[in-house]
Amino acid sequence: MSKKRENVGFVCENCGREVKPLSNGSYRNHCPFCLYSKHVDCLPGDRASDCGGLMKPVGVIYKPNKKGYQLKHRCLRCGHEGMNIVAAEDEQSDNFDLILQLMQNETNS
Ligand SMILES: [Zn+2]
Ligand SMILES: [Zn+2]
Repeated sequence: MSKKRENVGFVCENCGREVKPLSNGSYRNHCPFCLYSKHVDCLPGDRASDCGGLMKPVGVIYKPNKKGYQLKHRCLRCGHEGMNIVAAEDEQSDNFDLILQLMQNETNS
């Protein structure tokens, strides 16, 4: 098995919807509808973890000078946390209402 990254779609294990690959060629690692991800990386993009647990979106951080909006995910199986860049300009953009809710959670708690 090669370690080549394949830019393919997937079916979300949380909401069951079909997710298309990103049109700009970067790797889509979370569902744009419910924002859930899957624990497959130790470091972002390396696909080195064999946990496979669902990762719940727990917060949003805005980095003005770096990567813009980033989603914080926490694995429901092992508790691993990771950051993912929000996909904003795509045919299937991330659900911005959910992102706003997460931002409010972050500031209220
Ligand atoms: Zn989903
Ligand atoms: Zn995990």
